[in-house]
Amino acid sequence: MQDLDSIVSQALSEFDSIHEAAHLEQAKARYLGKSGVVTERLKTLGGLPPDARKEAGALINQAKQRLEQALEARRAALKQAALEAKLREEALDVTLPGRGLGLGGLHPVTRTLDRIEAIFRSTGFEVADGPEIETDFHNFTALNTPENHPARSMHDTFYIEGNAGVLLRTHTSPIQVRYMQAHVARHRAQMDAGQTMPAIKIIAPGRVYRVDSDATHSPMFHQVEGLWIAEDVSFAGLKGVFTDFLRQFFEKPNMRTRFRPSFFPFTEPSAEIDMSCVFCDDGDGPKGCRVCSHTGWLEIAGSGMVHPNVLAHCGIDAERYIGFAFGMGPDRLTMLRYGVNDLRLFFDGDLRFLSQFR
Ligand SMILES: [Zn+2]
Repeated sequence: MQDLDSIVSQALSEFDSIHEAAHLEQAKARYLGKSGVVTERLKTLGGLPPDARKEAGALINQAKQRLEQALEARRAALKQAALEAKLREEALDVTLPGRGLGLGGLHPVTRTLDRIEAIFRSTGFEVADGPEIETDFHNFTALNTPENHPARSMHDTFYIEGNAGVLLRTHTSPIQVRYMQAHVARHRAQMDAGQTMPAIKIIAPGRVYRVDSDATHSPMFHQVEGLWIAEDVSFAGLKGVFTDFLRQFFEKPNMRTRFRPSFFPFTEPSAEIDMSCVFCDDGDGPKGCRVCSHTGWLEIAGSGMVHPNVLAHCGIDAERYIGFAFGMGPDRLTMLRYGVNDLRLFFDGDLRFLSQFR
């Protein structure tokens, strides 16, 4: 029969080698359970002579106690080890610097719009606003766009289904129509009394919509239009105001502009505005480069003197007042200012691209 001491030492080393609480309880059963090695030994006491029985019983009980103490210690050790492992796993290094919130930034086109507004405000222009869902009257009719004008065809315009004469505005000009009408209504009394109508001097920035999509066209894009109506404005004023604006916007004090005859239904005469290429004109005239197709010029805006029919539609006396208007694409201005060659990048919402402008 295995002697008690060797049973104890075998059990102790076995307990020490166990690293899981469940295995420890299994080991306990093997020694102290109903048919465990030590328990079996107790059962043999009955066969011993009374003298020896007492001594042997005491020894076995001692052994039992030693094992139970060892189990208790091992249980506590395993519990402590499990706790430490969990703490290690969930460790929080409070000395690490904070991650902070992701810093947002303005969209590059928004930056351009802000810049355009700031430049025009500095010369006394007001910034006007209007709805993106417009009526046919405000978007076309009031702007002297005849019934059969190509801009009215389904090809260019998003119409609102089930609402005859309602559409997504195709330009920001309806803002000007609404502004002129409100301005006239506001000053009706003093005009009726023979006083001069205060000048209208606004820019109208905003989103516009057309059925069009490629590298340089998006179905949603931005426009900024300008309007100055008074008794004494002139085409020379238009040239001065717009050229000054471009020079400030691109920070090129020597930038040149040229006005080419053109046609728009709402202006007469009308002109396309070209500016000397921002990439190849360093102050002493454009040299020509890939961006300007080696012409030295970039088309940048449309403009003209407001058509008398437009003034009449808005209740302004075309015999007495005269105005000029211009319109440009801030998306294109943004592309030129930052050297971006695909318009769609602005509207894809890819933060890798957009965060470069923060
Ligand atoms: Zn160029």
